[in-house]
Parts: sequence; structure tokens; C-alpha cells
Amino acid sequence: MTGRSRGNVLVLGGGLAGVACAHRLGDEGIGVTLFDRNDYHQFQPLLYQVATAQLPAEDIARPHRVIFHAHPTVEVRTVHVAEADVANLRLTLAGGETVAGSHLVIAAGAQPEYFGVPGAAEHAYPLYSVSDAERLRLHVQDLVHGVAEGELAEDALDVVVVGGGPTGVEISGALTELMAALAAMGRIPRAGRVVLIDRGNNLLGAFSAKSHRYAHKRLAKQGAEPRLGTGVAAVYADRVELDDGTVIPTRTVIWGGGESAAPVVQAAAGLKTGHGGRVDVLPDLTVEGNPHVYAIGDAANIPAAHGAALPQLGSVAQQSGHWAAGNILRVRNGQPAKPFHYKDKGIMAMIGRNAAVAEVGKHRHQVDGPVAFAAWLGVHAMLLSGAHSKADAFMAWAWDYFDRDHAATVEWSTTPKRIAWGDEAADVPHISVDRRDPATAGSS
Ligand SMILES: Cc1cc2nc3c(=O)[nH]c(=O)nc-3n(C[C@H](O)[C@H](O)[C@H](O)COP(=O)(O)OP(=O)(O)OC[C@H]3O[C@@H](n4cnc5c(N)ncnc54)[C@H](O)[C@@H]3O)c2cc1C
Repeated sequence: MTGRSRGNVLVLGGGLAGVACAHRLGDEGIGVTLFDRNDYHQFQPLLYQVATAQLPAEDIARPHRVIFHAHPTVEVRTVHVAEADVANLRLTLAGGETVAGSHLVIAAGAQPEYFGVPGAAEHAYPLYSVSDAERLRLHVQDLVHGVAEGELAEDALDVVVVGGGPTGVEISGALTELMAALAAMGRIPRAGRVVLIDRGNNLLGAFSAKSHRYAHKRLAKQGAEPRLGTGVAAVYADRVELDDGTVIPTRTVIWGGGESAAPVVQAAAGLKTGHGGRVDVLPDLTVEGNPHVYAIGDAANIPAAHGAALPQLGSVAQQSGHWAAGNILRVRNGQPAKPFHYKDKGIMAMIGRNAAVAEVGKHRHQVDGPVAFAAWLGVHAMLLSGAHSKADAFMAWAWDYFDRDHAATVEWSTTPKRIAWGDEAADVPHISVDRRDPATAGSS
């Protein structure tokens, strides 16, 4: 059954890209239907804070209906999209309903990419969604309790992180701080090891040599063990095997090793996909041969001025969503679509409290420490602004987080310090966590 008129713009995915697109169209009174399997928008840059109990999951997941409450032309549907039919501008929803629109905007984001490493999909913990972060938090919490109560050996807390990019570095930094704090408080006999594996020879590979050294030094100082120049050969429930033959016993492998486009994107008939299974888009963000179909954010390979594709970053997602909406509006008004122009906000990573690194400006000027944190804060407040109007609440929480003495304030068994968003009690997202142990996942 086709349940909708062809008038609406269909936006598949309510992440940074989809929300930015729907917002701009909604501002102009254009009819939009936004589809997401979750009833909330999630803010990935703060996932590792949820995974390490620094923030409750609700703080980084904002219900779509709250985001669009002042946009009557934006309809939100919480449903899994099973198929995208590009030629017919149509989506098939779980349950079989089909919905056709005037335009299709593909903003379905990405999924973890395991590169065929045996056991990784079954046993590793990805960190891509709020429910991933919650699952990891609950798993580590169980291990901490087990060790604290003497039911598990001390080494049950040893962790292996795969991937030395921003995700791997940030979660390693936060975990070493957490472990050190728990040990300092006497909750556990010793801090769990945090071994960070990367095939390359540097951490934060996309950054400059100065940042590589900074990240390595800071992480090592915090107690992490970067192990570079070797990859992961196989992951098991109780150990990891590396390419060089080393075996590291661990119950917790965190996968920050890469991502590829969401399954619905990779399976869509008629879409030209390239590197990472992402949609190769034209400079105006449309797909070749169909000017009514756009792909944006992590689902797309967006050409950069210097030839390569833009990186999978929040600012790229948000700006491309805004731009795609602008092009839809332009074409409706009889003007040509314009090539996307990305305003580069720089690249940055938080290695720990008081330890951030940023490369900003045309010449990628490198800064670290509080100045880098201020840059991180500015960019992330801008990213959050699509979902929240209270940037000052985020700023206040973040400076407090950055400054706080971690060891004194691990709120492991109590409620972590919330961001004062001032939400109504009813504004809660419905977050469900698949608590299956990765050891048994996939076996049912
Ligand atoms: C751990 C981590 C940390 C990061 N840190 C930073 C950072 O510090 N700074 C930065 O700039 N960027 C960071 N990024 C990258 C940034 O978060 C992403 O580039 C950005 O969120 C991509 O936005 P998106 O809208 O394209 O995709 P997403 O935010 O992934 O949104 C896609 C949406 O599509 C929905 N969806 C997918 N498939 C379906 C389907 N079949 N049916 C229904 N709905 C579907 C999903 O539920 C999701 O809501 C980080 C990413 C990760 C994973």
C-alpha cells in the first residue's frame, strides 16, 4: 500500500544530517516525513562519556518529537526502513508499507565495519549508538562489581581497544581515567589494563605528527598501552589474537576500527556506492542520474575541494544536511542546485580531562590542552544546537567535566552528573539496550 502523497520530502535517518535537513525544510513550511528506527536523535561525540558513566544516556539522546515540536510540517515516524527504492523515490517500511515522496534524502549514517576479522562482530563491543554505549557501560559495571566482590580475578577488567582514531583514543583515555579512579578509591585492587591496538604507526593518524606524539604521550601517561604496527587477527569471548601472534586475554574488546554505510544504504537498488559502501554523490549532494535523491552525512562520499572525500564528521553531516535542504528549496524556486561548500571546523579529539588536541584553520594549526578543549567545545555546542536550544547548559557541564578531579568524582553506582537541559519529565527517549553478552550474540 502506498500511504502518502508524493508531496513530502522523505528523510531517511534522524541523526545530525537528517535533522539538519528536516529542520531547514520545516523552517520553510515544506512537508517532510523523517524516518528513524529510534524515537530519538543521538549525539555520537559524547558516546564514550556514556560508556564510562560520565553522562546518563538520556542526556545525549533527544526525542525527535521534541526537536520538531515547533515544526508542524515535519512528521516523524519511528520505524525501521527496510528498503530504499531510489528510482521511484520510495521507502519500504518494516511491516511492508511503502511511502513515496517528492524527494528522497538518504541520511542513514553508518555501522561498525569489522573488515571480516573473525569473531569481531560476535564478540567485540562497537561504540556507534547510545545503546552500544549503554551496553558497554553495563558490561564494564558488571565486571567492576565482580572484581570488587572477589567473584572475578583482577585481570577481568583488562580491556583491548581496536583502532587508534579519535573513537579509540577517546574511549581509551576515558577508561584509563575511570580504572585509575576506581583503584584510587579502593573499589578494585588494581586498574584494568587498557591496550590500544592499531595497524598504523601513529595514533590519530589523520592528525599531524605533533598531535600523534601528544596523544601517545598523554595516553601512556594515563596508563594506557598503545600497541602500534599490528592488527587484530581474531576476537574471541576471552581473548584477542594479534597479527604478530600475541594473545591478550580480555573479556572486553571495544571496536573503534572503522565504519561503513548503514545496511539500508548498501542494499539500496540503483545507488552507486563506493568507498566504505557509502553513496558517491555529485558535488551538489544528489546521486548521479536522479536529481531528486540526495545522500548526506556518514552515508555519503562527499567530494572535497582537493579531490578526496570529506571525512565522516559531525560538522560535515550537519552542514551537508542543511545544504541538501537548501538545494531542494532552490530547485523548487526554479534555481539550479549549488555545489556543497564545507566550512572546515578542524579536527579534534579529547584524550582525557585537561587533555584535548585540535587542528584548526586553513593550515591546520595544532593546539592542545585547554585551548584545544575550548575549540572542541565550540564545535560541539554548534553540533548540539540542532537538537538543543540550551548551549550554555552543555558548556557549563563540559567545563566542569574538563576541570574536575576525576578520582574524586567517579559516580559509578550513583547517577552521573547531568547536563541541565531543563527538559520536561515527558521528554525522555526510549532507549532499549540489547544486553546479550557478545560471546553469545549471533548464536540465536
Ligand atoms: C564514537 C563516535 C565519536 C564521534 N566523535 C565525533 C566528534 O567528536 N566530532 C565530530 O565531528 N564527529 C564525531 N563523530 C562522527 C559523527 O558523530 C558522525 O559523522 C555523525 O553523527 C553522522 O551523522 P549522520 O546523520 O550522517 O548519521 P547518524 O548520526 O549515524 O544518524 C543516522 C540515523 O539513521 C537511522 N537509521 C539508520 N538506518 C536506518 C533504518 N534502516 N531505518 C530507520 N532508521 C535508520 C539511525 O537510527 C540514526 O539515527 C563520532 C562518531 C562516533 C561513532
